[in-house]
Amino acid sequence: MTELLVKGGTVYTPEGPRRVDVLASDGVIMRVEPGLTTDAGEVVDATGMYVLPGAVDVHVHSRDPGFPEKEDFASLTDAAAAGGVTVVVDMPNTVPAVDSAGVLESKAALAHSKARVDFGLWGLIRASTTPEDLEEMSAAGAVGFKAYLAYSFSLSRKQVLYSPGVDDPDLEAPADYGTLARLAPVVAQLGLPLAIHAEDPTVLAAFRRPLLTYEDLLESRPPEAEAVALSAAAAVARDTGAHLHIAHLSSALGLRAAEDAMSIGTNLTLETCPQFLLLTADDFERVGSAMKMLPPIRGAADRDALLDGLKRGVISVVSTDHAPHTDEEKAQPFEHAPSGSPGVQTLYVSCLHLAKDMGDVWLAPRWVSEAPARLIGLEQSKGAIAPGFDADLVVVDPEAKTRVAAHEMRSRQTHSALEDREFDFAIKHVYLRGEAADSGGKTRGRMVRPALVMR
Ligand SMILES: [Zn+2]
Repeated sequence: MTELLVKGGTVYTPEGPRRVDVLASDGVIMRVEPGLTTDAGEVVDATGMYVLPGAVDVHVHSRDPGFPEKEDFASLTDAAAAGGVTVVVDMPNTVPAVDSAGVLESKAALAHSKARVDFGLWGLIRASTTPEDLEEMSAAGAVGFKAYLAYSFSLSRKQVLYSPGVDDPDLEAPADYGTLARLAPVVAQLGLPLAIHAEDPTVLAAFRRPLLTYEDLLESRPPEAEAVALSAAAAVARDTGAHLHIAHLSSALGLRAAEDAMSIGTNLTLETCPQFLLLTADDFERVGSAMKMLPPIRGAADRDALLDGLKRGVISVVSTDHAPHTDEEKAQPFEHAPSGSPGVQTLYVSCLHLAKDMGDVWLAPRWVSEAPARLIGLEQSKGAIAPGFDADLVVVDPEAKTRVAAHEMRSRQTHSALEDREFDFAIKHVYLRGEAADSGGKTRGRMVRPALVMR
């Protein structure tokens, strides 16, 4: 029996912060109380430190399989472990896209051979997806399903693509509101979340333009696209009982549409990302293409609305939309630089900093651990420091600071949108199921599966 005892810290528990010790045995938390001892394992002195549940980042892009030069499960989970993220949940737009149980199972085997933290997998909803596809992906362990409302599907490349207005027989049209109406009852029956990339393709088509400048990017992806997609999907999901989850909410208009839907009882959760809470379009001059992403980082009014939504608890989840490319690709002229930026390594410190600024640092473990674990059906094993939960523990120094620097980043893309930002708090130790996870190299991540509640 291997034990881990974390002593003397301030522990964030489901009852709030407490001065207690945490004793884990064989990777599971056994006791959370003062004055614990062990003679069978490692003792960590956490005096003056915070002890937090490991983060569950429900929105990452491993690029694996498909684009190993951009990232793979080893580099992704290395970055995650360094940042206190002990579960990454990978989006299905790897190549081949995860649109069947067979692809999901091969991807799970690949991830298992490389992962240094635990991982979960989303399944893809295409326009041609059948109820059987969803049932089989659920049986294979999908944590939920994602529909990209504005993105086509290349039949030959098995790839989700943004290619608006292209008339090509190889492209299957994007999943649309009809697809959602057809499949939401099945997703509801399976008890899994239905996540959407909320941008309406007809609004995007109306604002299409060459993307030469950051202003072009903003104009091509207006907040109306987010609000329209969100409202329509919510209307479709409402009476099916499906749990609709909005990925990377980016705008005040989108937030208003979501609150309208929630006010009439729609089962809806919202996720936003640190980059939308910490940056505005004005930062482009300083940051450059590292902050080119979709949806875009908008103005101060949007940022403030999202911060307010988070403070009021309307937005419950903070994820990263970790989406690396190579530094060389991102260094191309703006027009050619691909969209996306890494973020998994800075999720926890940036959220602790934001939460402290809001006046309650303990909001951070709720945004990055408690709420996301609940979203994907892991509320009995992850997201809390309590007996019976996995011993995924993050020891944080509240007096130290972290400066985001390319040479410290473990993702393949080292220049992130948050490069050079300084955050209060520094991550000191990370434990995955009771063993140190932040020293690199150890491949012991396991796939997480939702504890399914059939409805
Ligand atoms: Zn994404």
